Amino acid sequence: MWLGVLTLLPEMFAAVTQEGVFARALSAGSLSLECFNPRDFTEDKHRTVDDRPYGGGPGMVMMVEPLQRALDAAKAKAPKGTQVILMSPQGQRFDQQMAITASQHAGLILICGRYEGIDERFVSQYVDSEWSVGDYVLSGGELPAMTVMDAISRHLPGTLGNQRSVIDESHLDGTLDYPHYTRPEIVGAQVVPSQLMSGDHNRTKRYRRALALQRTLERRPDLLTGRLFDPLDRQLLTAAALQLGPHTVEEEREKKQDH
Ligand code: SAM
Repeated sequence: MWLGVLTLLPEMFAAVTQEGVFARALSAGSLSLECFNPRDFTEDKHRTVDDRPYGGGPGMVMMVEPLQRALDAAKAKAPKGTQVILMSPQGQRFDQQMAITASQHAGLILICGRYEGIDERFVSQYVDSEWSVGDYVLSGGELPAMTVMDAISRHLPGTLGNQRSVIDESHLDGTLDYPHYTRPEIVGAQVVPSQLMSGDHNRTKRYRRALALQRTLERRPDLLTGRLFDPLDRQLLTAAALQLGPHTVEEEREKKQDH
């Protein structure tokens, strides 16, 4: 997959290109990344990329022309069918399904805004979609672009040591991941659940699925709404719901005595 990024701060991308899973995808060749700095496409002495907003107000706005030229340069290198995405707090909320879909594209150009944002005429003419990483405002699109890139790279063959990691992960099938444990077996008063020590693969699998469903019900019940479940999941969910359900009077009394 080819990724092009339009950014005024290309050095920031060293954070993902030098270490970690994304860097591994780059060296494995499943991914390539090129940055295009709109400042390199200016024609004045000061390499101006922004100007004051029409109508007044605080901050500066990124001008159309340097962005347009940088985008042309990116498109000249991009594979056919590459989508142009603007990182924006006003965009569609980025999620796991979008990461999977994007990983199947040959290319993607991610545009990182700065200042108050980008001249709307550039957005309406050149941008295919706007993606947000959450309902908060960051100072620039670089961290959102890196977030998106990292999430996408996990779905490219050869990026992860074990591709199963992606299969079990949170959000893949609309549930959260099960809890993980490693050595030592005992930490203080806490011991690794016996179901994980039995060596019985089916028992482990069922236990993990039960915990994944229980966690999702507890932390993100919204993810379960409107979903269809197979009979085993339905059974595990019912058991989880009973556990989370209202305490008996006896249990409530015991709880109060403990405090
Ligand atoms: N004035 C804009 C608004 O209120 O919608 C915010 C501009 S923000 C300070 C500068 C740039 O950061 C944006 O153009 C966008 O590229 C990026 N950005 C900020 N928050 C983001 C988010 N939650 N998701 C994706 N990009 C974001």
